[in-house]
Amino acid sequence: MSPASRSTTTTLTVAIDGPAGSGKSSVAREAANRLGFGILDTGAAYRALAWAALETGTDLDDEAAMIALLDSWRYSITLVGEQRVEVVLNDAGQDRTAFFDVTAEIRDPAISGQVSRVSKHPAVRDRLNGMFRELVAASGLPGVVIEGRDITTVVAPEAPVRILMTASPEVRAARRAGELPGLSPEQVLADIAARDAKDALVVDFFTPAPGVTLVDTSELDFEQSVQAVVDIVREAQT
Ligand code: C5P
Repeated sequence: MSPASRSTTTTLTVAIDGPAGSGKSSVAREAANRLGFGILDTGAAYRALAWAALETGTDLDDEAAMIALLDSWRYSITLVGEQRVEVVLNDAGQDRTAFFDVTAEIRDPAISGQVSRVSKHPAVRDRLNGMFRELVAASGLPGVVIEGRDITTVVAPEAPVRILMTASPEVRAARRAGELPGLSPEQVLADIAARDAKDALVVDFFTPAPGVTLVDTSELDFEQSVQAVVDIVREAQT
């Protein structure tokens, strides 16, 4: 194909931020499906990095060690269809590479409890943010919904659609408790509050930045939340 006939795809970026349990991940995924867009769950990369650090015995609090780990890993995530998260680790000393499908492991509460130790490092965030931008740019998709904590402000502040999705702490805890059988809503609320507090030291994901649309899902069911996002995107497209 000659360069002249190659069509250049401009990917529409939809940035969605919000705290744990706001409904952001499942709502963003369904909204992306309906729009025919891809979905990039950025929390999965922080979780996979925390998993890789635990797997390799890397100190999660040591920023330089975490950067060295980033130098030696390969990360991939599917943007369309069922999410698969894969990590390739290089053991330079042993001249060996090992492949892991970590799709299920990264959802373990043990990872949720450790991941803030990884996401607090500015250099780690810089590296992952570059990776997120490359994944979207290389997607070839008409649009990608990117969801996380700092997407509207840091990763894609120029995105044509930027949404902050929130819900009250009680509603968030009740939703997460439904996903984690065995834990009471009180335990889940305590875990969420602890993780929010640690994450909020690094990123303010409770206040919408100028130009960011607030979607409070406390009083919305799943379908209404998805529709709210789809409506905001469709309006931006007209
Ligand atoms: O969204 P999820 O709960 O999977 O995110 C896991 C963790 O990854 C968060 O608690 C936070 O520490 C980190 N994270 C982040 N910035 C993002 C996405 C996630 O710091 N954009």
